Amino acid sequence: MLSGAYLSITSARLHDVIAPALGHRLKLDTAVAKLGIQGVTLKSGEEIHANVVIDARGAFKPPVPVGWQTFVGQEFELEADHGMEHPILMDATVPQVGGFRFIYVLPWTARRVLVEDTLYADTPTVDYGTCRRAIADYVTRRGWAVKTMIREEAGALPIPLEGRGEAFWPDATLRIGMRAGLFHPTTGYSLPDAVATAELLAGMDLGDRDRVYHRVKQVALGKWRQRAFFRLLNRLLFRAARPTERFRVLEQFYQRPEPLIARFYAGRVTWLDRARVLAGRPPVPIARALAHLRGQ
Ligand SMILES: Cc1cc2nc3c(=O)[nH]c(=O)nc-3n(C[C@H](O)[C@H](O)[C@H](O)COP(=O)(O)OP(=O)(O)OC[C@H]3O[C@@H](n4cnc5c(N)ncnc54)[C@H](O)[C@@H]3O)c2cc1C
Repeated sequence: MLSGAYLSITSARLHDVIAPALGHRLKLDTAVAKLGIQGVTLKSGEEIHANVVIDARGAFKPPVPVGWQTFVGQEFELEADHGMEHPILMDATVPQVGGFRFIYVLPWTARRVLVEDTLYADTPTVDYGTCRRAIADYVTRRGWAVKTMIREEAGALPIPLEGRGEAFWPDATLRIGMRAGLFHPTTGYSLPDAVATAELLAGMDLGDRDRVYHRVKQVALGKWRQRAFFRLLNRLLFRAARPTERFRVLEQFYQRPEPLIARFYAGRVTWLDRARVLAGRPPVPIARALAHLRGQ
């Protein structure tokens, strides 16, 4: 049990706050056909010019070697209170089918809960059947009676194993978000980086396009470099551990002191933290682990 706070926002809530602030300037369901440094061409042929164009079109074909975090989540309204006071970040006591598998539970209200089946897999293919069965089994095990399933979400997030951050910056396009490699390498979460990027941009003079480009790129590359340790951990997960034994790498991690776990989620581990995560009984065969210690 971790005592730290765990904050969440829904995409609907984000939309409700941002849309009025942008007003008529917001264009939804509008595909961009071509993107340049100071303008975009929409699929309709319309051209829009701007001093600063930011490419935030989400994940694209990963430019570095990756494993995958695939998942299906279902949000339920229950017949009775679930009785949970806190989220469950990882319940890996479920069968380890296909790789490192765990259930994530997010209680939104007393009766509304998101149950997500997550798999650290070698391919991005989402196995809907297995995930849905795992969620149903979990709900049954908890003794929850489902009134309605409100929605289902699914995804495949790249989990980088190695490579240089520059690979996300092949040209002079200013990128942010997943496209700029701005996400936590092990959890795949990008919301904290997105908030930091929004604050960075809000504090800059957008009149100087080159300065904005260089500053955002510098921050993104700095984060990528700082996060080399997480890519090492990912290599241990994906390359050194056998798929059904992958859970051991993180099982050992969650036995570490809570401040270390908080720094891990924030992507700010110290050198002592790194030593602590890797110390102790090796969760993977030592020879295979050593073979993966090098890299970026
Ligand atoms: C189901 C799911 C749940 C997730 N849950 C979490 C979570 O709880 N916490 C967390 O931190 N991360 C989570 N992630 C991971 C990650 O944070 C999200 O993927 C996040 O939305 C990435 O943000 P982004 O802005 O980089 O890209 P996106 O949110 O993917 O936004 C890219 C946008 O660009 C648009 N676009 C793409 N191409 C074009 C085009 N040619 N023309 C016009 N528009 C285009 C897309 O339609 C999309 O709206 C989740 C991912 C998924 C898929």
